[in-house]
Amino acid sequence: MDRDGVAAAIAAADRVTVLTGAGISTESGIPDYRGPNGVWKKDPTAMRLVDINAYLADPAVRVEAWQERLHHPAWTAEPGAGHRALVDLERTGKLHALVTQNIDGLHQAAGSDPELVLELHGTIHRCRCLGCGYETPMQTQLDRVRAGEADPACSRCGGIQRSATVAFGQSLDPGVLRRAVEAAATCEVLLAVGTSLRVQPAARLIDLAPKALLVIVNAEPTPYDHRAAAVLRGRIGEVLPALVPST
Ligand code: NAD
Repeated sequence: MDRDGVAAAIAAADRVTVLTGAGISTESGIPDYRGPNGVWKKDPTAMRLVDINAYLADPAVRVEAWQERLHHPAWTAEPGAGHRALVDLERTGKLHALVTQNIDGLHQAAGSDPELVLELHGTIHRCRCLGCGYETPMQTQLDRVRAGEADPACSRCGGIQRSATVAFGQSLDPGVLRRAVEAAATCEVLLAVGTSLRVQPAARLIDLAPKALLVIVNAEPTPYDHRAAAVLRGRIGEVLPALVPST
């Protein structure tokens, strides 16, 4: 199926679920992990910053992770044409859920209804204590880093803090995962955008939608391409607006 066929299928559907990954934000200046300019392609050792065991065991990893958060491109990034196209899709009333692996908040910044955005891997905009679970705005903690605290401890219990994102070795929020599973299982079209589909359990959502028309929009091959009704390889900012009626 080509672009026009996908656009027609979306126009005819009542229930579209979208799964996005880091690729939808690269055009906004936030690098992905596994793409050609991905963070892990350039520096495979950067993976340790998102490993919960390394984070808990090694203060040097935490100090580096706080510096990475301080300078994260999400603080200045603007939503791109891909994010905006999904707002247009929502306006048609067809969008059932926008499941995202991204932590950057750009879907909400573009105008997506926060109720429809399911952040499978959490958000960098909040900070959480790994000891007592106390949550604070990330900028409050980054102010402490700017003021000289290299690894700011929880102001309530003194515990180790990190962004409210899911690291390797941590579980997903069961409520968010449950809603994502329901959204995949009940949609007519499942649109996977800018994701390598190599991170579980996110990629497995595709297995839960055997009857849905699967459309993959991604620059590189994914392990699910052979299952898709359409695989569209162009840049997301060009492809996605062409699939969705603009309002
Ligand atoms: P990934 O890095 O594994 O894959 C991204 C895919 O997007 C790649 O296959 C790449 O070819 C494709 N891509 C990149 N830019 C594109 C473009 N402009 N047009 C078309 N395709 C493009 O990303 P993932 O599958 O989301 O898994 C990575 C994990 O990293 C996720 O868990 C996510 O939480 C996290 N992450 C998030 C962000 C963010 O919030 N923006 C950034 C980096 C990593």
